[in-house]
Amino acid sequence: MGPVARVYTQTNSRFWESDGRNGFASVDQAMDIWSPTFDQPGKRGIVMSYIYEDLAVQYSNMSEEAQIQRSLDLFEQIHPGMRDHFEGGATWSWQNHPYSKGAYMITRPEEFRTVMPYVSTPEGRVHFAGEHTSTWPG
Ligand SMILES: Cc1cc2nc3c(=O)[nH]c(=O)nc-3n(C[C@H](O)[C@H](O)[C@H](O)COP(=O)(O)OP(=O)(O)OC[C@H]3O[C@@H](n4cnc5c(N)ncnc54)[C@H](O)[C@@H]3O)c2cc1C
Repeated sequence: MGPVARVYTQTNSRFWESDGRNGFASVDQAMDIWSPTFDQPGKRGIVMSYIYEDLAVQYSNMSEEAQIQRSLDLFEQIHPGMRDHFEGGATWSWQNHPYSKGAYMITRPEEFRTVMPYVSTPEGRVHFAGEHTSTWPG
């Protein structure tokens, strides 16, 4: 399963909108930065990172507080003033969740051809279902 982690930081205002920015960003790391509050009522904002690949494993192995501080260091570069407006944060790791252990199926080179045909093959009366058994994963 592909590792995915998210870090959410809440601010007391969407101060980045004052100069026309919507809060979203692309960075040179294995993550996207989203601002899911962009079209919501109220004045508070959330800046969120959607982290994947090895970087998601790194974040998943850190404490929640360490993930939030590392994210604030990055978000401060994108939206200067982030730490001054910060109110609180939260994290989630699909990698760490015992019933998912990841977000979606990914295969290493060659595995799609060698392993996939067998993943959905019934074992006696036991049948396997879900996106990880599909040739159209995700
Ligand atoms: C953060 C994240 C981002 C993603 N981004 C994308 C993306 O951009 N594009 C993409 O294509 N895919 C994406 N995916 C993957 C996609 O969401 C999953 O691959 C897809 O939802 C899996 O579908 P599924 O039907 O196999 O399983 P699920 O959607 O997990 O459905 C399983 C269902 O079974 C139910 N269930 C479990 N146990 C029982 C039980 N005992 N009895 C009855 N019901 C039960 C669950 O409640 C659930 O509703 C993402 C996933 C995550 C986590």
